[in-house]
Order: sequence, then C-alpha cells, then structure tokens
Amino acid sequence: MHHTSAKVLLVAMPFAGVTIPSIQLPLLAEYLRRQNIHVDEAHLYLKAADIYGILQYYKLISPPNDSYAAQLAYARYAFPKHWRQVQSKCQSYYDKINNISTEHDDCLSFSEYINRSDIFYQWVMDNIDWKKYTLVGFTLNYGQFLPSLAIAKYIKERYPEKIIVFGGSRTTGDIGKHVLEVFDYVDYIVSSEGEEALYQLCVHSDMYQQIPNLIYRLDEEIKWNKSQKQITLDSLPILSFDQFFTQLQTVSPEVQQFFQYHGRIPVEISRGCWWNKCSFCNLNIQHASYREKSVERILEEIKAVSEKYKILCFELIGNTLPKKQYRNLCNALKDLGKDITLFVEARAGQMSREDYILLKEAGFTTIQTGIESFSSHYLQTMNKGARVIDNIAALKFCKENGINNVYNLIVNYPNEEPVDFEQTQNTVQLIQQYLDPPNLCQLRVLYGSPIYSHPEQFNIRSFHPAPIDTLLFPSEVLEKNIGFVFDFTLRHEKTQHNWDDLVQQWKDIRHRMTLEAVHQPTPLNRYVFYFVDGGSFIKIYDKRNKETVQIFTLDADERKVFLGCLDVVSFEQVQRITPGIPEYQLAAILHSFEKNGIVYREDNYYLSLPLSIRPPGFKKLEKQQSKLETNIIHQS
Ligand code: SF4
Repeated sequence: MHHTSAKVLLVAMPFAGVTIPSIQLPLLAEYLRRQNIHVDEAHLYLKAADIYGILQYYKLISPPNDSYAAQLAYARYAFPKHWRQVQSKCQSYYDKINNISTEHDDCLSFSEYINRSDIFYQWVMDNIDWKKYTLVGFTLNYGQFLPSLAIAKYIKERYPEKIIVFGGSRTTGDIGKHVLEVFDYVDYIVSSEGEEALYQLCVHSDMYQQIPNLIYRLDEEIKWNKSQKQITLDSLPILSFDQFFTQLQTVSPEVQQFFQYHGRIPVEISRGCWWNKCSFCNLNIQHASYREKSVERILEEIKAVSEKYKILCFELIGNTLPKKQYRNLCNALKDLGKDITLFVEARAGQMSREDYILLKEAGFTTIQTGIESFSSHYLQTMNKGARVIDNIAALKFCKENGINNVYNLIVNYPNEEPVDFEQTQNTVQLIQQYLDPPNLCQLRVLYGSPIYSHPEQFNIRSFHPAPIDTLLFPSEVLEKNIGFVFDFTLRHEKTQHNWDDLVQQWKDIRHRMTLEAVHQPTPLNRYVFYFVDGGSFIKIYDKRNKETVQIFTLDADERKVFLGCLDVVSFEQVQRITPGIPEYQLAAILHSFEKNGIVYREDNYYLSLPLSIRPPGFKKLEKQQSKLETNIIHQS
C-alpha cells in the first residue's frame, strides 16, 4: 500500500439532480480512501438547490428546460467577455424556454436566475478551504461542465499550485484532448474509468506519462494514454454516503425534505451496454465493453447501505438491467425481506410477462424502458434492436403490474420519413386510451454517437454548434471542437410532422380517462381495456371507443389462442400450445383478433392487447407462457 500526503477534494457541481446523490464522488473517494489517501467530497449541487430554491432548481433542469441549458449563467464567470456580448441573447433564450409552458410561470426570472447564480458562485469561492487540498477533481456529466470550468478557473487563478483534474462523459476521448488544449487551468483529464488513474495521480504525479487513461500536456502537445484495462466491479469498495448526508444536513429543510421524500441511493450494477448499437446514443463512450456486478455483491451493497442510512429506495445504475442475471437479481431482492422500492432502466424485448410480475415483487415501482418509437421503420433507423410489439408488451406488462414506466419518444431524426409518423399514428390509435403516454424528445446529435460518427447515413451534410453552445462558449472555443451537442444541415429536405399534437392528444386522452376512472365504483370499472377468464371462455371489455363500448366473448378455442398470446409469440409458438386447433382455424382466429384490435401483429408475431387484471380473489392465469424464450433481441 502506498502512502501519500496528497489531499484530494472531489467536486460535483450543479446541475446534477438532488433526488440521487452523485455516485461518482463516493465511488472514486472510497477507492482512494482504501489506499489511505485523504479525500473529501463536495456535493455542491445540494447547496445550489438550496440557493436557487428546490422547486426552481428542478424547473431549471426539467423539461422544457434541461440541465445542459441550466448552465447558461456560468458563462458569466468562465468567459466574462463573451458573456457581455451574448447576455441579451441568453436572456431571450432563457425567457423563450420558460415561457413555453404556463406550468412554468413561477420560474425564476432571468435576473433572479443570474442573481442566485452569483450567490452560489460566491458561496463556493468563499466557503471551501481550497488551500487544504493538493488535487481538486471535478466529475462532469451532461450539465456540469460550465459550472466546473468557472470554479476550476477561480482555483487556478488563486492557487496556481493546485492540481485540477476533470473526468466524466463530457471530457472523454478526443473531446477531452480538446478541452485540455483550450483551458490551461485544467491540468489533467481522466478519460474513461477514473479510479486507478486518480489513484496513480495521487501517489506518482511525477510519473503522469505512464498513468493509464490520463490525458496530459507534454511539450506543447496533448497526449492520451489510451488503455483497455478495466476494473472488476466486484472488487470495488462498498460506497459510503456519509459526506453526502452530512452535507445534506447543512442545507435548507426544504431540500432535506425533498430528498427524504423523493431521494434514492444509487447502486452500480454494470458499466457499458450489452447492446451498444442505438444510433442516437453516446452513453457508452466511457466504456470499452460491458461488465456486470455479481448479484451477491449488489445485494450485499443494498443491505449494507439500507442498514447504515435507514434507506429503502434505490436506483440501480447501469444502462439497462443485467443481461442474464436479472431473474436471479429479482429473486434475491424479493428474498431480502425489506420493503424496498427500486428504479432501473430496461430494454424492451428482454423480459417476458412473468418477468414483469417478478420485477414488481422485487420492488421495482418505476422503470424507464428504452421505447423511443412506435414505428418499426423508425426503430430500424435507430437500430434499437427491439420491435414495436416488444414496446407495447413492455408498457402493457408494466400497466398490469402497477409499475410506472417513464419513457421517451425520440423524433425529428434528420432522415425521418412520412412512414415513421404514419406507423406511429396507427399504433398510438390502438393504445392511447389505456397505456401511458411518452415524453416527447427531440433528437439531439451527441458527440460520440453513431449518428455523429456517420452523418452521411442519416441525411446530414454538416454539423454546426447547437444554439445553446453558441451562448455557452465563445466561438474561438467552439472552433476547438469541444462541442457536445450539435445541430445539422440536411442533405435533402425532410417532411415535418406534428409530433407535438400526437403526443399532446395522447396525454389529454389519458388524463381524461384517469379522471373518469376515479369516479368509478369498483377497481374493475376503472380499466379501459381488459379481460376476465371464465375457465372455458373469456370476456373482453373494450372501452377504448367511448361511443361504442364492445364486449367480446371468446369460446374455448379462441380462449386458448388468446391466452397463448399474452406474451409476444410467433405463429408457430401459438400453434405448439394449441395442438388441437388446425392451422387454418388458428390463422382465422388470429386474423379476427387482429381485425378487432384485441391482438397486435408484427410480421409473424402476436401479442394480446387487453390488460390481464388480477384483483384479489381471481384465480391465477394458466402458465402457458413459462416455456417462452426471453432475451429475444431482434437485430436490424
Ligand atoms: S440507448 Fe440504451 S440500449 Fe441503446 S445503446 Fe444506449 S445504453 Fe444501450
């Protein structure tokens, strides 16, 4: 073990969210502490939420705003001359975003936003004992770059001997090299995994040329020690959130209460993504390959953290549920004997109906499924590896199990086609009355994504900085290729589609249906589209069209076929589980189901659409699906 006199401060700036502590700070800090290095953490987003006001802080980072635009005020400290030139444009930009929705009329005015940014900036300068530390590391995600630059600049001007290190997705790879080229007050950048690089910097800072994953200056040149070495996730220490909770106690009761009510503790389950092919995604630029933590280790962490901080809400950190071990993980969570609630991101097409029941039993109350589209053509453009039928299944299973699914619809690809809109409209017609609507998400071309790397395949002639980047950075800085979000010029014009209306209409319908449901006398009456099983027949209640409520009664054969389609199944699979029904009859039954909108078909695959509702006292449905394949991922 090495001993060093290095004293490290790790900083997470706004505009990170407050509902979940930064995982990067405790991850890096515990790794260093295990090697006897003194590390403090500064969870400064907590103080920022305190100064802006917790509700206003959330308005700044939630749609129609986002944490990237929330950084605007920090151009004032990082680039004062540029700020003087663009201040009025910044105000127009800020006012325009905040006036989009009347829900946001209690947002901070621009002058108050600047005023509170000044107060926060001053507070950070005055209240952190920078002299104590030899190295200050900033963790940079989406909305933290400019606030970190502003403070790093201040530290270097005041204490030139301090070592300033940046790391995180915003400074990975080539973009990290450019950042080092432009900002002379940043000494090093850790590209990719930070644990070992940071440790080596603390104990052998003189040998920086040998440190893996480090970007540094050498004789006017910027060098990058690329490395494929990766840490084994099970070898990482169990995280301590002591400093987070200590700092939480120093902020206003409103911020503390907000965390107590909405907060959850992050538990890392994997790094990278086992799919890693979606054309809009740059989430994996930091990770060369996919790795999972063992189920035993995940459980050990949840138990330890839950006991220590008396917390029962967790967010599993990984781009998606574990590829193979998700059932083991759910079963282990179920057996924990705690009333835990969990959030995780998941892929459609990965799990069966039974798996969603297991998810619910394990404590998953909210998930985010990577739905992105209800058009098969669009999903192929996105290279999502899931089908529309998988997306509907994911939403249906969540609804059946009372799992809140928060998901996005990504639109406005540069090569979007009329068929993308038409297919989506057709799908939405079938489900908008009883499945919850998405958040509309305009495509942003992100540095490192496949669209960014292959623009010609997506009808893009050239990139230029997004308007927000021209406000955040002076043009001479942007010219050095430090942009992270890009606008584009099209090769060929494309048709515009009214996605806003499509989604708004869906939201309005669901809102109305939800209000109407509240006044219904029994739980069953509250459902819009569901079935009940009579053993030898099935009744389907379809209230999707208010004017013509339909009740279908299925006979014994139809019942078998219908129950065979509770999961996504191929024609051949339905055939295997309904051996007494001749092929022609099976095809006719499925055709009539499809025609009546009670089964969704995509190519040779089928899925029943009404919800399976199991109020107490109802018998368990036949387990016809237990032999179905899972992990059905369809490569485009
Ligand atoms: S969007 Fe999700 S599934 Fe797709 S590549 Fe990115 S992390 Fe993986």
